[in-house]
Amino acid sequence: MTNIAMNHNFNNKVIVITGAGGVLCAFLAKQLAHTKAHIALLDINLDAANLVAQEINQAGGSAKAYQTNVLDLASIQAVRDQIAADFGTCDILINGAGGNNPKATTDNEFHTTDLAEGVKTFFELDKAGIEFVFNLNYLGTLLPTQVFAKDMLGKDDANIVNISSMNAFTPLTKIPAYSGAKAAISNFTQWLAVYFSKVGIRCNAIAPGFLVSNQNRALLFDQDGKPTARANKILTNTPMGRFGEPEELLGALLFLIDSQYASFVNGVVVPVDGGFSAYSGV
Ligand code: NAD
Repeated sequence: MTNIAMNHNFNNKVIVITGAGGVLCAFLAKQLAHTKAHIALLDINLDAANLVAQEINQAGGSAKAYQTNVLDLASIQAVRDQIAADFGTCDILINGAGGNNPKATTDNEFHTTDLAEGVKTFFELDKAGIEFVFNLNYLGTLLPTQVFAKDMLGKDDANIVNISSMNAFTPLTKIPAYSGAKAAISNFTQWLAVYFSKVGIRCNAIAPGFLVSNQNRALLFDQDGKPTARANKILTNTPMGRFGEPEELLGALLFLIDSQYASFVNGVVVPVDGGFSAYSGV
């Protein structure tokens, strides 16, 4: 693949990415390293973030991993201080940490009166699981923004990108908490864009369509690697007829974070979804 990130120059800028050890953000971090920015890789899973840092540094980029819990303000603050000492303060924040939890997922798409014994319906959803999902996605975006946006005040070209989802536009079956939490992320993106509009910090979001990653692999493929019924449903409802690749998020991300292109783009949620959100299914 042509490295389109090389066309963007963020020399000496500091890009902070949360969830950077995960599938999507690890990929994006490695690509963003080609812009000559310093990449701060934040993840609760330090080993995963370290692997990404190693790969970036070995390829001639500049990156460091920081163990961070995006739900713990003290942890984020301590990491902010380390990053400031290592690279300088944050210019661009990508809030990538997020995800769903099986305890907040129903087994059935529709409630019926003839369900088999043991099927987990809406009525069995676990309060702690729902809180986990709302906290991870919403607070896990808000708290890092509180810490890192403070340093962006007064900087040129500072901006924030959040990661929303298709389920923010229309909820997906089975995952009410994750859908609600991502809807909150789209809403918060607009709120931040307005709130920081007088002080030069833009805020936008990307809404990935259906990409294959750890988060959804079990929902999309059976143990033999064949698409599940749900995967077939997704493909039928994606006009382009395929799953997306993490690579396909990169162009939208580069556009949003590069003020040469997007200096007047503020408060938008960009779907990267093969047309899924545009399609009524008919
Ligand atoms: P992933 O599970 O591979 O990565 C998430 C990362 O976040 C993991 O490395 C995990 O260790 C880290 N993390 C979890 N809790 C944390 C915490 N408390 N503090 C710090 N880090 C924490 O997921 P992914 O598929 O790469 O998704 C990345 C983002 O994109 C998420 O916000 C997800 O909701 C969103 N998203 C993904 C898809 C998709 O198809 N993969 C679609 C839409 C949206």
